[in-house]
Amino acid sequence: MKISTASLDWKSESPHSNQYEDIYFNPEDGISESFYVFLEANKSPQLFKESHDACITIAETGFGTGLNFILTASEWLKHSPKQSKLKYISVEKFPLSRSDLQKALKQWPQFQEISIAILEQYPCPQAGYHTITINHSHIELLLMFGDAAESYSRLNAKVDAWYLDGFAPSKNPDMWSPELFREIARLSKPGTTFSTFTAAGIVKRGLRDVGFDVRKQKGFGRKREMLVGTFVENQAPKTIDKPWFELPASAKPKGVTIIGGGLSGCLTAQALAERGVKVTLLEQENQLATGGSGNPQGALYAKLPVKQTTQGELHLSGFLYSVNMLKRLDPEESFWSQCGVMQLATSDKELARQNNLIEQETYPQELVSLKGAEELSEIANTSVNFDGLFFPSAGWVSPRALCEHFVDHPNISVVQQQVNDLSFAEGHWQLATKSGEFLSASHVVICNAEMANQFNQTDHLPLKTIRGQVSITQAKATNNQLNSVVCGDGYISPAHNQQYCFGATYDLQGKERNVTQDDHESNLEKLSKVLPDIHADLAAESNDLQGRTAFRCSTPDYMPIVGPAPVQDQFIETFAQLRKDRKWHFENAKAEHHPNLYVNTGHGSKGLITCPISAELLASMICDEPLPLPKDVIDAINPARFIIKKLIKQTI
Ligand code: SAM
Repeated sequence: MKISTASLDWKSESPHSNQYEDIYFNPEDGISESFYVFLEANKSPQLFKESHDACITIAETGFGTGLNFILTASEWLKHSPKQSKLKYISVEKFPLSRSDLQKALKQWPQFQEISIAILEQYPCPQAGYHTITINHSHIELLLMFGDAAESYSRLNAKVDAWYLDGFAPSKNPDMWSPELFREIARLSKPGTTFSTFTAAGIVKRGLRDVGFDVRKQKGFGRKREMLVGTFVENQAPKTIDKPWFELPASAKPKGVTIIGGGLSGCLTAQALAERGVKVTLLEQENQLATGGSGNPQGALYAKLPVKQTTQGELHLSGFLYSVNMLKRLDPEESFWSQCGVMQLATSDKELARQNNLIEQETYPQELVSLKGAEELSEIANTSVNFDGLFFPSAGWVSPRALCEHFVDHPNISVVQQQVNDLSFAEGHWQLATKSGEFLSASHVVICNAEMANQFNQTDHLPLKTIRGQVSITQAKATNNQLNSVVCGDGYISPAHNQQYCFGATYDLQGKERNVTQDDHESNLEKLSKVLPDIHADLAAESNDLQGRTAFRCSTPDYMPIVGPAPVQDQFIETFAQLRKDRKWHFENAKAEHHPNLYVNTGHGSKGLITCPISAELLASMICDEPLPLPKDVIDAINPARFIIKKLIKQTI
């Protein structure tokens, strides 16, 4: 959902909120006040020095101009050991517009590097979770756009220190609510600290009631008092809504073995390697990305629903995450291009849907807008037959090049091995290979697409394949030059390495591995409907078309499968009561998982937007860090969901 940006008054260099009639920071000495009230009061610099190899989590209410964040990030860079990590979580109901943020950050040139990184990755005003990565993943800012209590209620994290900012309780009583205090307690552990500029009774009592030891101390400058404190215990009884989705405890491992060298495997490897984990990536073929991830180009965009759905939220968060990741890691655009994507309305029904999507203002205009065929033709540099949606920040990616780039990392070794069997004994996994070897691993992530259910431990995963063929042809100098990705019934990207790649067929039954002329014809026909001039050029070469066939690995609910591998028999036993009562309240029921065994598969044709965020999610789970997606979205991709659905439907 699109959200409103902050309405500001710039009184001198210090912004003032029209929504709350309050200031963002002390105009006389904002830096010193923030440092005193939040960093010093929580002893953040000391926490950072002693962080060793750990992940330190700071959470804040009210991101505002990001001053607290940049101060914290800069202190972190001064003090923290090399392998440790800062996760800074913040929430913002009315994000500053990009230009206001730019203006605010300009005031602190000493933090220019961090400010540039924030601005480059600053999200459009879209509700949900957004990740900004700084300094090779050593700092991650999870920026949640939305209301504080609601956003924190979806978070899975254990916080070390809270910066309770947000406008004064007298100006903003809604934020300082019992719901927010309950969430703060849920996300705290014994010893978690907090500090806040206010000494208001409602804050003092609210935090005391949920288990904090609250103390007053001298406020900054002329201010008399402020509050600090430490979490002692959670006084609310722990209620677990869906115990089957509870994640197993984990601690950052030294090494992880990954099975499968496609997009999901390579990105998971990279996300772990960036955290200092040694990764062994096992791939049965003699090169990476030979399956569904091996096409020369794939469209990078999210097909958005009119009304927000869990799937839509995953796709949009994933899309925004992928774009930021690519901008950061390949700024020269050597294996991707941010050339924009048009999604054409090739039927009246689709046009009505697109009109509805725009009228309801579900998404900000900088993300997507509706354009007429004429304007789209200008953008594409060739005639386009339909009106449609245009996504200016979208584009295409060469998935194989991306895989190769990502595993080129000192912490990753790629080994050609086919794993046939997995067994767990004496605290370790044994991987039996086709060549008769046994490899040992403490942690395993299964990323081998539709073969992910070949193991005893995962044979319950319902995976299916969808055959797809792309057509590939030389782009001649005399041809029309396409400038952006066009999606109609199929898709085509601008030429890359002097080749056009277009398609793809979508065949739920097909098992044929060879490239077929029929499929070339079908791809050309889809093209003729939307891009007549490009079609005329490429059809002239139709006898010379090359192609590639691959099988997308999909799931019954078209959501990927990402998370710990459940022990099916134990799940059936523990949650058997669901067969009789889907709303049964379980007391002390524990979801049982195979130790340190994870799955990342089923990305279908959406791998470019779901694999990067899923890899980040899995690496965070495995290394015991806050998770980058809301809990309900994580539940929707949990590998155990199929067992639970079957129990409820009484089909197991
Ligand atoms: N920490 C910020 C900094 O370092 O620049 C300053 C924060 S400013 C004083 C307070 C912020 O809290 C504003 O940006 C405001 O929009 C935000 N806010 C107020 N109520 C909120 C709520 N219920 N949920 C999320 N954010 C809220």
